Amino acid sequence: MGLGSVTAHSGRHFLQIPGPTNLPDRVLRAMARPTIDHRGPDFADMALDLLQRVRPVFATSGPVLIYPSSGTGAWEAALVNTLSPGDRVLAFETGHFATLWRDMAEGLGLVVDFVPGDWRRGVDPALVAERLAADPDHDIAAVMVVHNETSTGVTSRIAEIRAAIDEAAHPALLLVDTISSLASIDYRHDEWGVDVTVSCSQKGLMLPPGLGFNAVSDKALAAAQKARLPKSYWDWTPILEANRRGYFPYTPATNLLYGLREALDLLDEEGLPAVFARHDRHAAATRAAVCGWGLEVLCADEREYSSSLTAVLLGEGHDADEVRRIILERFDMSLGTGLGKLAGHVFRIGHLGDINDLTLAGTLAGVQMGLELAGVRVDPAGLQAALQVLRTE
Ligand code: PLP
Repeated sequence: MGLGSVTAHSGRHFLQIPGPTNLPDRVLRAMARPTIDHRGPDFADMALDLLQRVRPVFATSGPVLIYPSSGTGAWEAALVNTLSPGDRVLAFETGHFATLWRDMAEGLGLVVDFVPGDWRRGVDPALVAERLAADPDHDIAAVMVVHNETSTGVTSRIAEIRAAIDEAAHPALLLVDTISSLASIDYRHDEWGVDVTVSCSQKGLMLPPGLGFNAVSDKALAAAQKARLPKSYWDWTPILEANRRGYFPYTPATNLLYGLREALDLLDEEGLPAVFARHDRHAAATRAAVCGWGLEVLCADEREYSSSLTAVLLGEGHDADEVRRIILERFDMSLGTGLGKLAGHVFRIGHLGDINDLTLAGTLAGVQMGLELAGVRVDPAGLQAALQVLRTE
């Protein structure tokens, strides 16, 4: 590329994809330190502290494993530690990520009952109850749910799903992906009886990609004693053993752990309830803009609106990726692309992590201008409607 074709942009890039999210300066500074000996006493002090302090983010008092991995690795860890070849698992087609997790489970040798869905709704708790009631021999070993479908901006109601499992008196494990909800949307591992919560660093935790998490229940730990899927790197047992002394059986991502320590400070200072309320407000303002523009939010059930991202459906004749291209070029803002079968039909506005009212106002102003430039007919009152939410609530 010749220099002449490079567009110079002043100010900061707007990274409004639903993860990775914008990194707070404090997190960046915290990571810019020498890497220390991961077998030395200073490391152990830091890790012992972190392994405790990360628990409240999952609302658990149990262990949380931290892998040097992306979220996909944490998915695999959840499956290989709890299940055996040929085990049946129940999963739901809520979107692209639920489908990928299904593919992984099948690839690992599990048999997946995949309940079809239209990518506009979350998991129906009544269907969970129905499917489990139809399994009197308890062949289904686990139920896999994506809490917040990042491809669609639709959440699933985990507490109600738990109640459905209990209603069927079924012993299946509940495995939940909170990759784009953790530290953004209210989530309670212990209270909701989740057995493995899967997550990662680059979304609500405001860190770069590179850390994967499994929060695990006693029931999951007991299942791990019998699980026969092959595993080595992901095996919980040696990790939990080393963690007791503040170490890991492999070289940990030390600088990301410095970042995690700082991110936990940030979350503590704001307080998790305030963090969730901020995400709820920003999501409400975003939906006000979308509806005000005369466009459609992909999520079809208001009980399932996502507070961390909004997927915007464009009508026939418009290419969502062209809108994104114009916005990137003109306003230096990245929006999420449509994934899987939604490619070209939706774009996704990420409003999670380190953002404030004016970041969101700027984001929505950029989206509105980009839509206009792309020739999508929108009512400019949309932005005003969003500002009204930000001003009054
Ligand atoms: N699950 C969900 C809900 C996601 O949003 C993503 C990534 O965005 C993944 C799983 C995969 O995570 P990673 O890309 O970190 O491997």
